[in-house]
Amino acid sequence: MSASVVQTKDLDLYYGDFQALTKVSVGIAPNKITALIGPSGCGKSTLLRTFNRLNDLIPGVRVEGSVQVSGQEIYAAETNLVELRKRVGLVFQRPNPFPLSVYENMAFAAKVHRTARGAALDETIERCLRDVLLWDELKDSLRQSALALSLAQQQRLCLARLLTVMPDVLLMDEPCSTLDPNATMALEELMTGLKEQYTILIVTHNMQQAARVSQDCGFMLLGELIEFCPTGRMFTDPADERTKDYVTGRFG
Ligand code: ADP
Repeated sequence: MSASVVQTKDLDLYYGDFQALTKVSVGIAPNKITALIGPSGCGKSTLLRTFNRLNDLIPGVRVEGSVQVSGQEIYAAETNLVELRKRVGLVFQRPNPFPLSVYENMAFAAKVHRTARGAALDETIERCLRDVLLWDELKDSLRQSALALSLAQQQRLCLARLLTVMPDVLLMDEPCSTLDPNATMALEELMTGLKEQYTILIVTHNMQQAARVSQDCGFMLLGELIEFCPTGRMFTDPADERTKDYVTGRFG
């Protein structure tokens, strides 16, 4: 467990009076893709968002228990949220590029965090656009608005934008939900390549996607993490009857 990049222990989360997560204890291993599956409303996105404290932005949210990223307790009062969100980046369901040029989107985080400028920044931007296979498509139009790109390009740009500051963890919340099958396949291939360098956690409602891309898998139900195991086992020999019912399509 000590090798986990993200580790929770007895994590509870409340939206006001409503308890959305109950006693979640999980360890996310480095350089793997971990998928969170479960029926809509079971708490997958909520759990994902606790890992960079994005739920803090919602009034009335209360978190109890432990969440550590690289051994550091992230709900401690002294946590620097800007630094945390640099280390733990999130790709949203719908791509959300800034209404700026491709170049400015890519330069944004490096400028905020002062990690690179000048020629070093240009090199970083090229490297990260190459990492998401966008460089050849966009290298001659870096000054065009990011909003003019296709949805598939926008999603890859949002991913590339995170990579510029070398995060430890990439969180992806249903990242393919707006993409067509070809773009979905391309993004899945990218994720598989990126796991060599990053720890990736993906929320998906699509069990086939979890089976295709992930090495570890967690099944959630009504705010609880029911089962967490290697993905192959989750789909062939789950320990819990509720997991079996879900992965065989009895509900959800
Ligand atoms: P999933 O990602 O599995 O679909 P969510 O994490 O989005 O589930 O939601 C878990 C539960 O928390 C649901 O019952 C949902 O209605 C509730 N919830 C999510 N966001 C909020 C919020 N901002 N305020 C109140 N309840 C919320």
